[in-house]
Amino acid sequence: MPPLRIVLVNPSHPGNIGAAARAMKNMGLEHLYLVDPQSFPSAEATARASGADDLLARARCTDTLEAALSGCALVIGASARNRSLPVPMLDPRACAELVMQQPAETGVAVVFGRERTGLTNEELDRCHYLVRIPANAKYPSLNLAAAVQVITYELRMARAAALPAVQSRHRFATAEEMELFYQHLQETLIAIDFLDADNPRQLMRRLRRLFARARPNQNEVNILRGILTAARQRGR
Ligand code: SAH
Repeated sequence: MPPLRIVLVNPSHPGNIGAAARAMKNMGLEHLYLVDPQSFPSAEATARASGADDLLARARCTDTLEAALSGCALVIGASARNRSLPVPMLDPRACAELVMQQPAETGVAVVFGRERTGLTNEELDRCHYLVRIPANAKYPSLNLAAAVQVITYELRMARAAALPAVQSRHRFATAEEMELFYQHLQETLIAIDFLDADNPRQLMRRLRRLFARARPNQNEVNILRGILTAARQRGR
């Protein structure tokens, strides 16, 4: 199975952190990342983790989502809602199958949102796919740890059925390589007067969606950045 982490963004209830750790350990996962948790470490989290307190003790806290996605080349956001910008939507089973099809070295993150407000648009812009548990349309929002349980259960079932992961020559670009590319792209678009820095509208979000769909490998990102550099030089 590719190295997989579960990322909880800004969780407000330590009990949910503990319950999510327990859900993960039950399903054989171990890498938990916490982005700016409101209260952690916490006795309540440890109590709810029960025998998964070791996993909790090894959880990594980061200040930003970007830091929690470091090294990941496939990012899947868990969302109870349909979102305005189209991001390909998976159910948990299809999500697990997609994860199992990744080349062995691909870092994968499944990102869960805040208890109250879920994930922001900016956070969703970092996701290649969304996964939605098909729940009651009139009451679709599961408890955070319950959502972690459902999605990690499907990962476990898919792992049992999976063929050995393929080896690939070029690895997919990681989240930080893509961020550097987007920065380069934006600077270039401003320099060639395609993007108005004072009125950027949705352009960068739309371009992010385009490249998230394409999922370029590292070599392709280098080619794109070479094109940007050449365009800048010609424009001078
Ligand atoms: N009121 C929030 C729900 C947050 S629930 C909202 O409308 O977005 C906390 C987190 O649990 C969500 O951000 C999501 O990551 C996960 N979650 C809850 N219900 C889910 C569902 N039906 N499908 C996928 N993820 C879900």
